[in-house]
Amino acid sequence: MIMDLHTHTGHSPDAAPDTVAERVAAANAMGLQYMAVTDHVEINRYYPAAFYHAKDTEKVLYNSEAVWKGSAAETAAAQENTGALTLLCGAEFGQIPQNPVLAGILYRDARLDLVIGSVHELPGMDDFYFLDYPHLDVPALMQAYFEEVLRLAQTDCYDILGHLTYGTRYLPNRADYDLTPHLPVIDEIFRTVIAKGKAVELNGSNLKADVPFTDPDVSLIRRYRELGGRYLTLSTDAHETKYVGYKMDVLEQLARDAGFTELTYFRKHQPVLVPLCAEGGDL
Ligand SMILES: [Zn+2]
Ligand SMILES: [Zn+2]
Repeated sequence: MIMDLHTHTGHSPDAAPDTVAERVAAANAMGLQYMAVTDHVEINRYYPAAFYHAKDTEKVLYNSEAVWKGSAAETAAAQENTGALTLLCGAEFGQIPQNPVLAGILYRDARLDLVIGSVHELPGMDDFYFLDYPHLDVPALMQAYFEEVLRLAQTDCYDILGHLTYGTRYLPNRADYDLTPHLPVIDEIFRTVIAKGKAVELNGSNLKADVPFTDPDVSLIRRYRELGGRYLTLSTDAHETKYVGYKMDVLEQLARDAGFTELTYFRKHQPVLVPLCAEGGDL
C-alpha cells in the first residue's frame, strides 16, 4: 500500500482521540509506505472564538491554532521513530481564500511537508454538512462552491487540492446531481492547479458509505489527466485509526483507470513521484 496523505488524529475536533504513534503503528502493520497527518486548520477560525466576537457551538469550532500547534509538535516528535513508514507532517487548511495572508504565514512553517487546501464552507455560511438543502438554490450554491475552490486554487498556500467535490457530498440527491453546468469552472480549477505545479487528491472518505463514492469521482480525475494533470494523491481522510488505508486498493485501481502510472507525495512542499504498479504487483 503506497500512501494515505490525508488523516486526522485526536487533535482534530471531529476525530477520534487517537495519537500519532497509534497511527504510525497501524500504518506499519498494514505496510503503508507514506502517511501524512493533516489535522484541521480552519484558516477563518484560527484564533479563539473571542477574537471573532463569537462563541463555540457544535457547528462552529474555533482555535485551530491549538490544533495546529499540538498536531505539528506530536507529528514532529513521532518522526523520530517511524519504522519503515515515511511520516509526513501536514495540515488541512480550510477556507484559505478567507485569510490568505495568515495561510501564507502558516504554509511557510519549516515543519510542514504538505498542505491540503479545502473548502468546507462558504463565507457567512455553515459547513456543507449542516446546510438545509431543501430550502436552498442548490445549483447556485454549487456554482458558488466551485468558484470558491477556484479562488483557493489560485493561491499559493496549498500543495494538494482536497476533496474537490466536497460541496456536493451531503446533497440529498448527490448521486443524481448533474455536474455538467459546473464543468467549465472545474476545468479552470484543474488548469490552475496544473499551472501551479500542485496536486489533486482522490479522497476515499465515503467509500465506507452505504452507497460508496469518492471525492471527486473517477471521471473528473480522468479529466484532470486529460488536461495535463500529473500529480495525484490518494487518501482516506481517516478520522479514526481503523480507517487508515481503508479500501486503498480501490483508490489505487481508480487512479489506474484514470490513466495514472505514478502517484505523488510532497516533501517540504516539493512533489515526489512514486510508481503506481500494475494491479496486484508489489513495489
Ligand atoms: Zn476536509
Ligand atoms: Zn479532512
